Amino acid sequence: MLPFLTEFYGNPSSAYGFGSRVRDAVEQARAQVAALLGADEGEIVFTSCGSEGNNAALASALAADRDRKHVVTTGVEHSATKNYCEALTRKGYEVTWLPVDSLGRLDPDEAAAAIRDDTAAVSVMWANNETGVIFPVEDLARAARTKGAYFHTDAVQAVGKVPVRLVGSAIHFLSLAGHKLHAPKGVGALYVQRRTRFTPFLIGGSQENGRRGGTENVASIVALGKAAELAASHLAYEGTVVRGLRDRFEAAMSARLPDTQTNGDPAARLPNTASLYFPGVDGEAMLVLLDKAGLCASAGSACTAGSLYPSHVLTAMGFSVEQARGSLRFSFSRFNTEEEIDRGVEIVARAVERLRAMSPAEPR
Ligand SMILES: *Cc1c(COP(=O)(O)O)cnc(C)c1O
Repeated sequence: MLPFLTEFYGNPSSAYGFGSRVRDAVEQARAQVAALLGADEGEIVFTSCGSEGNNAALASALAADRDRKHVVTTGVEHSATKNYCEALTRKGYEVTWLPVDSLGRLDPDEAAAAIRDDTAAVSVMWANNETGVIFPVEDLARAARTKGAYFHTDAVQAVGKVPVRLVGSAIHFLSLAGHKLHAPKGVGALYVQRRTRFTPFLIGGSQENGRRGGTENVASIVALGKAAELAASHLAYEGTVVRGLRDRFEAAMSARLPDTQTNGDPAARLPNTASLYFPGVDGEAMLVLLDKAGLCASAGSACTAGSLYPSHVLTAMGFSVEQARGSLRFSFSRFNTEEEIDRGVEIVARAVERLRAMSPAEPR
């Protein structure tokens, strides 16, 4: 990033030679992101974040046919999709919120049946940010196409953690965010499949091939490109070593506290996510103790932290308020070590024991 914050400050859209070096760097980043997705460079639009990608994809899908007033999504989407769709209901759209079962799974037949002739867009996340549960997005994208609907997937959690290969895919739009794959915050990308009609969300100049106005955030785009290249080269490691660290954490946690429960479908889960339920414990109180011990975790998503409501994802899985509040999410990466995992288990176990000792009357 640094050269593009100091030496190479030219505007990539300018005609002078000083800008062309910068333009080349942006195009290299586009190729790196495309390679991670198994897509074409021309299919990548840089954005400011994952939320923008989700909003832009849905807005474009709806603009393509104003007579279609129906949207299908799930009850467990990130707030960037959830709140956008809620806003649509106030603008005269009908939204079908697909339910999930107790393991956080969608019923593919129920999902396909929800897509109608007047469905404009189907938006289903690739992997859930709280539980890591993976959805069969390719099948759903095919079902959407048979009804002439656009299919968008919020792949912010999936990209860089599980293989994504979009060549020949039925998916029209896919969003990703830099900070979920070790790039900086405030940059993302939207994949727009070739030959897909696209209406810009941010209207301005002809940047990004006319698909997003505004001067590019060059340093962050360069960083996203590099992060994508590194993620591609570590993909196998994610599926083996990082998965191993996560599994080690879960196994040691249930050995140490036998009533610990793992949330989400064990058969289809991201390798880096653990959502655990500790009966009789308050998640927010846990976070305070964990933070003091230097361990960062979350109750629900960071985007809903501080809200009084229990996680809408766990609630949609049929969890009681007590179960949802007693659940925490832990994330792992290629920068973690086995020693950290073992230390983490001890920190979490002590925090749970401490809270249980403070409120022995709580139900277990
Ligand atoms: C983090 C996240 C987003 C939002 O990305 P931002 O870059 O924060 O806007 C969207 N969807 C999912 C699944 C996420 O995890």
